[in-house]
Amino acid sequence: MPEHRTSRQVNLVSRPDGEPVESDFEVVEVEVGELDDGHVMVRNRFMSVDPYMRGRMNDAKSYVPPFAIGEALAGAAIGEVVESRSDDLAVGDHVVHPLGWREVALVPDSQAQRAPEIADVPLSAHLGVLGMPGLTAYAGLLEVASFAEGDAVFVSGAAGAVGSQVGQIARLKGASRVVGSAGSAAKIRHLIDDLGFDAAFDYHDGSLTRQLRDAAPDGIDVYFDNVGGDHLQAALHALTAGGRVALCGAISVYNDTEPAPGPGNLTLAIGKQLTLRGFIVSSYDHLREPFLDEVGGWIADGSLRYEETVVEGIERAPEAFIGMLAGANTGKMVVSL
Ligand code: NAP
Repeated sequence: MPEHRTSRQVNLVSRPDGEPVESDFEVVEVEVGELDDGHVMVRNRFMSVDPYMRGRMNDAKSYVPPFAIGEALAGAAIGEVVESRSDDLAVGDHVVHPLGWREVALVPDSQAQRAPEIADVPLSAHLGVLGMPGLTAYAGLLEVASFAEGDAVFVSGAAGAVGSQVGQIARLKGASRVVGSAGSAAKIRHLIDDLGFDAAFDYHDGSLTRQLRDAAPDGIDVYFDNVGGDHLQAALHALTAGGRVALCGAISVYNDTEPAPGPGNLTLAIGKQLTLRGFIVSSYDHLREPFLDEVGGWIADGSLRYEETVVEGIERAPEAFIGMLAGANTGKMVVSL
């Protein structure tokens, strides 16, 4: 397969100081090495850009090791097997694997998952609504936050990949009220008009506590936190007794260069007997099957909608990543390769 002997990839050339900039990244062309036993060569079709990658660009200890300077970045991708030395995967298979940020990847078959067959969805959906962000929404709402029918739910980052699915799953499972926050008037309209949220507000429009109170006058039983900071503080005010918080992400502080202070009203958690529970989606693989069954069904019958913001070309992957952090996406941000 001589046409796959070189590949362009995106290397990290410097660790971002605050917000990442294009010069932190470099697109280079490299030789594709030899295919080892038990590996497949994958021509990537779509790669994901995700908020957690920002943390891996810092030289800091975390639940995933930092990216190395001068080497390719990595992250979820879906592509087609073009050469196989695996007993399990054949040429033509579509696989999801962790070696994105490059056009061609040599992947151990143990790290490549055949994409489940779900009718009428694009390949890119396996990086979003049917992939890691989708499972995050499903597991975080239903298991981490112990959602129950009749709960009033607030989700921040509501127009993004995870948040847009949280709100819709809550609606489909019988929430009494679904409220979202996002960063523009167009996103707010999208949440209410297209995704069926009961209320939504733009977090740029003044006090979050006041806006949340107006949107959920009877309070909230569940807060799905994608943003942290002031959003968490406002949610602590609005939560009812026995309320639950799924601590999923804190994107408002990912570019901070100094540690951000915690919410000033955390002691409310005592009197209201709140549960605040952090989670990482990789611990919820046991929910993958029911997740795919339920969400696949909702997509098929049109009751769950998903958006994707698609940026074309590996050379624009840094722009897609920087843009996603700044809110350029509605739904899942992916790069088409
Ligand atoms: P996303 O929501 O599709 O994209 C990120 C969004 O964050 C942007 O579109 C932007 O939308 C918003 N944002 C950026 N800066 C913000 C700020 N200062 N305040 C409020 N919103 C801001 O990303 P995603 O993949 O669905 O991830 C959402 C969250 O879930 C992230 O915190 C991520 O780290 C977390 N996550 C956690 C897990 C886990 O296992 N725990 C797994 C996946 C994702 P606006 O225009 O609305 O500002």
